[in-house]
Amino acid sequence: MSPLYGAASPAALFDEVYENYRKYLNPPLARVMKLSGSPVEVSAEGCIITDHAGKTYLDFAGGYGVFTLGHRHPRVVAAVKDQLDRMALSGRTMFNPLMGRLAKRLAELAPGDLSISFFANSGTEAVEGALKLARAATKRPAIVATHGAFHGKTLGALSASGRDAFRDPFLPLLAGVRHVAFGDAAALRAVVDANVAAVIVEPVQGEGGVNVPPAGYLRDVRAICDAAGAVMIADEVQTGLGRCGELFGCDRDGVVPDVMTLAKGLSGGVVPIGAYVARPAVWNAAYAKQPLLHTSTFGGNELACAAALAALDVLRDEDLVANARARGAQLLAGAQATAGRYPAVVAQARGAGLLVGVELRSEGYGGTIIPELLKRGVTAAWTLNAQRVIRLEPPLIVSAAQVETALAAFDAAVASAFEQLGTLP
Ligand code: PLP
Repeated sequence: MSPLYGAASPAALFDEVYENYRKYLNPPLARVMKLSGSPVEVSAEGCIITDHAGKTYLDFAGGYGVFTLGHRHPRVVAAVKDQLDRMALSGRTMFNPLMGRLAKRLAELAPGDLSISFFANSGTEAVEGALKLARAATKRPAIVATHGAFHGKTLGALSASGRDAFRDPFLPLLAGVRHVAFGDAAALRAVVDANVAAVIVEPVQGEGGVNVPPAGYLRDVRAICDAAGAVMIADEVQTGLGRCGELFGCDRDGVVPDVMTLAKGLSGGVVPIGAYVARPAVWNAAYAKQPLLHTSTFGGNELACAAALAALDVLRDEDLVANARARGAQLLAGAQATAGRYPAVVAQARGAGLLVGVELRSEGYGGTIIPELLKRGVTAAWTLNAQRVIRLEPPLIVSAAQVETALAAFDAAVASAFEQLGTLP
């Protein structure tokens, strides 16, 4: 029996939630979600979400990459409950054991000499911290980012993000930010000069439509930054911690950035957290004499750090990076098989590890495929900056049988979209 949060019936719970969204949260979004058949989530465990009516779903949207360990991994939940009985949030005036331990852990895991961490509460805050760090360290104004990039929606991170529809209503954004084509080292080389504080790049663009750059691209970015004295920021908010079949996306090219941002999977999907990890030389150049220039009241709180420490243990103990590689290959092969069967609907399936993007021939198909998947008990999601690309991004704990089930549902959903819509322009 699914929890009803005090409502008299499943239908009453749905009506209450929908009305609250419509009146008090986001009226147009509420209507779109209702039209696409979105139920109310009431509980979750592992790769399964249960809705208000008791129906279960394989979670292949995965909280847009948050649920690397699935929902409520027992070891992470236990660590958080345990910490809750001691201390929940930092008093901020004293040393904090868990924040220090987590920073040490990240220094051990991160490539090269990346070793000084700053903790925030979300991905966009991690990016804000990294951009500020680069500016303060280099005393330079300019930032170079890539078209289609997604770095978050606070003003600094939005300035680096690469989709006009999200940026235009807020112009002017941060001055001195330029965008170049993703994956194109020559285009990057042409704009990175002695004015540039940082180049920020995702090892694989997630929200940009799951764009995997050519092999060696990150090494080129590294060399271009070195030549110009610019800070290389790898935004690993989505690609980090196993998602792409390596511990970090940068490992695909064996590259050590100057700063790496993390969030999403870092605390195992139980307590929000964001972080950047920096090389000491960069951090010291910015903050050695001014330790309070960039701070966060809630960042690195005990609950988040307890969750993250447990999550990193689970990632190692359950060998989830290897599982992401194996299950990712299975998922991509299956999605490509569907693409081959329905070439009028699916242009391409691509990805790295368990970040798989399905590029549709027309945006119109997605509005049918996602609800058809939901009907068949599988969640999937759009990518934020590419309107024709759907992402399949399940937890790294997903089993081979669960991938097969989701692929069968995906194939049937694509077939149904083709049946209903025919060939769209
Ligand atoms: N950076 C990347 C690469 C992301 O994918 C995202 C979110 O999707 C962000 C930053 C922003 O993270 P948040 O939504 O936690 O602010």
